[in-house]
Amino acid sequence: MAEPEWMKEVRALVGKEYGRVHAWDPVNAPMIRHWCEVMGIENPAYTDAGSAAAAARGGLVAPATMLQVWCLEGLKQNNYPPGSTTENPYESLKLIEAQGYPSVVAVNSDLEFERELRLDERICYTTRLDSIGEQKTTALGTGFFVTLVMTYWSQRDGAADEKVGTQLFRVFKFKPANPVKPAVAAAPAGPPKVKRPAPGMSDDTRFFWDGARAGKLLVQRCKACGTLRHPPGPVCTACHSFEWDTVESKGLGRIHSFVVMHYPEVPPFEHPNPIALVELDEGTRLVAQLVGLAAGEVAIGQRVQVEFATFETADGGDIALPQFRPVAAQAA
Ligand code: ZN
Repeated sequence: MAEPEWMKEVRALVGKEYGRVHAWDPVNAPMIRHWCEVMGIENPAYTDAGSAAAAARGGLVAPATMLQVWCLEGLKQNNYPPGSTTENPYESLKLIEAQGYPSVVAVNSDLEFERELRLDERICYTTRLDSIGEQKTTALGTGFFVTLVMTYWSQRDGAADEKVGTQLFRVFKFKPANPVKPAVAAAPAGPPKVKRPAPGMSDDTRFFWDGARAGKLLVQRCKACGTLRHPPGPVCTACHSFEWDTVESKGLGRIHSFVVMHYPEVPPFEHPNPIALVELDEGTRLVAQLVGLAAGEVAIGQRVQVEFATFETADGGDIALPQFRPVAAQAA
């Protein structure tokens, strides 16, 4: 199919290099140690200065896969060190979005390393818009694969920067697959409303969604030993029985843990978007959206009560989802 006229402006950006983004801190031992601890890496080349000095490398190095870490912005969005570019390397996505492609999903990322980084190196990166594919239709919808390549540099006083690695980052910028609606009236202007993705459903999980549609929060129970389990699965992890039925939860529980999604703002969700791991009084846990409280009010241990809301899904159907609301607010 012929490409729309507006795409010419977007394609003109292919090959564009966006300026440097600097690292807040030089390569340093504390960040390496924290990262290794989180990742469960115990290689002394990264954290044991004594043995690293005596080994072939002659000193500590940073794990190669930390490359992206050095130049991350931190908790505040777009909060880069002075001297960093203010250009938006994602401007092509904004232009595509303006034409009615509101959704984005990361597709793949490939890292390549030239060498290991050593303590006190100052890292920065530049970004190049590598390519924009032809319009494609996938199960998610119709849109464009956009590929960016970040090149990481070690900065040297009085010498040219040294390339130390690259990171390819590919996204699919798309309009979600929506059913064709009968034309009953002039459609309002503006991009199409983004609907929720439909969950994958199998013979093991269908009871849960059917229960939600009936306003019931169902938990899978092993028929042999009575152990409750969630998420649903075909076999009991306690006794390996394949026999199961369900029990209806009272829908009461407490917030075991939570996250508040601030960024990126992915339609159709409201942001900030508080999402909890709720421990039901029956003992199983499930992940669900929190409603009826502001993002800053969420607390671990808070008592919550289930309720059900129905949403249209991108495949043309709808889905009932359990959500949780503070018990006190429910009573009010
Ligand atoms: Zn069992």
